Amino acid sequence: MKYPLIQNFVNGQPVPSASARTLDVISPIDGTLLSKVPLSSKADLDQAVAAAQKALPGWSRTPIKERVQIFFRYKNLLEKNLKELSLLIQEENGKTYGEAVAEIEKSIELTEFATSLPQLVTGEVLEVSSGVECRTEYVPVGVVASIVPFNFPAMVPNWTIPNALALGNCMIIKPSEKVPLTLGRIASLLKEAGLPDGVFNIVNGDRVMVEAICDHPGIDAVSFVGSTKVAKLVYQRSTQHLKRCLALGGAKNHLIVLPDAMPVMTAQNVTASMSGCAGQRCMAASAMVAVGSVDHIIEKVCEEARKIVPGQNLGAVISREAKERIERYITEAEQQGARILVDGRNTSVTGKENGTYVGPTVIDYVKPDMAVAREEIFGPVISIIRTKTVDEALAIENANPYGNAASVYTQSGGIARYVTDRASAGMVGVNVGVPVPREPFSFGGWNESRFGVGDITGKSSIGFWTKLKKTTTKWNPESGINWMS
Ligand code: NAD
Repeated sequence: MKYPLIQNFVNGQPVPSASARTLDVISPIDGTLLSKVPLSSKADLDQAVAAAQKALPGWSRTPIKERVQIFFRYKNLLEKNLKELSLLIQEENGKTYGEAVAEIEKSIELTEFATSLPQLVTGEVLEVSSGVECRTEYVPVGVVASIVPFNFPAMVPNWTIPNALALGNCMIIKPSEKVPLTLGRIASLLKEAGLPDGVFNIVNGDRVMVEAICDHPGIDAVSFVGSTKVAKLVYQRSTQHLKRCLALGGAKNHLIVLPDAMPVMTAQNVTASMSGCAGQRCMAASAMVAVGSVDHIIEKVCEEARKIVPGQNLGAVISREAKERIERYITEAEQQGARILVDGRNTSVTGKENGTYVGPTVIDYVKPDMAVAREEIFGPVISIIRTKTVDEALAIENANPYGNAASVYTQSGGIARYVTDRASAGMVGVNVGVPVPREPFSFGGWNESRFGVGDITGKSSIGFWTKLKKTTTKWNPESGINWMS
């Protein structure tokens, strides 16, 4: 085992879990046993919640301008430790080094946004009648939880950590049990940046811990990022316990490609979007809806896909089960009559035979009712669905239950606007393969890609991490008697 047994992080210290249950942490790159992660118990959560509750009065009353000083330092520490963090992400998640670096760069951008929060939460004041004023303040929610998936071991946690903490909350975070190492290192950087003990706590675990978080009376709000199946469970269970909840789910993102699209750029974008992070991005292109005669673009997509070399510019998928699931989808589509133009099944990387790689895969003549057209595959696979008209393409996009992202490739402004107006997705692109809104714009899908109100990052997240206090004050007796008196 390369690293020692992972510990929880409570009250500013690594602490062993009370639970004897553990899970192996395996590197998808070559199957190396990296560590073991404890599958913590309710007693571990109680300890973390108690630490957070103890830290809350001091932290929530610290002026925000002081709180964000810690995040200026944290941002500097992310920059200073970029290489080490990226290597760790690569090792436990299997993505390429460049993709891991991008994840830390995005974490830096997220932290940079958090340092601007004092400018965004100034509140309002108005004299509402003679001598009487109303003012609003953003007050922290309290002890909040963040439950995160495997695909971005640093970026998704940093969707929630800087904003939630800078706004005065204390946090319990539960990493994915598949990639728990990076978050442990992040905890030590937050401590080095000067974050008071108890403000940030990690409880490792699986489903048992997620359910305990949803049920815990000491937790006021739960944010979740992961699959739609679990997002629904977490949203239902936390709100049943009268908690505030924002749960982001899975995705099936459509790129609608028209014949007038720029061929080389479109093909490069489609391929990069479907294969980046081995297709394990909630913003990855999963279906290309080809409108009319776009064979010349499809040929170029195949050319681009063939240039990708697994183990070099394509990382591994997270596990053996994930590899088998993705390959099953491809085989099923083939059996149902779809054509596999580029086949990523049975991929193996020399010297890394225990790694879990799937090569880029292009499937043509996919019918809208096939599983590869409807379901989230979460692998480097693009399903091409052919239509005659833009309206048919939009009908396919609209019928999908998810709604994270959609994009259109065209040179016509009118058609681009027609599609962006009608696509049923929270994040829409024109000639952009991964239409992630960058800070200060907020990230969040629609439909079954998000349960709850508002987005998880950017300005929209302020509403989730705070409560608005409205104070009405009468300053002078001459303000007179009225219905407010
Ligand atoms: P997942 O839903 O399996 O796991 C997410 C978290 O939930 C993990 O911490 C895990 O321990 C926990 N969990 C798993 N099964 C559970 C259960 N039955 N009950 C309670 N908790 C459970 O997701 P994943 O495989 O880690 O991540 C991939 C998924 O995340 C994809 O569907 C992807 O689209 C989605 N995702 C969405 C976004 C977004 O912004 N919408 C971002 C990243 C990833």
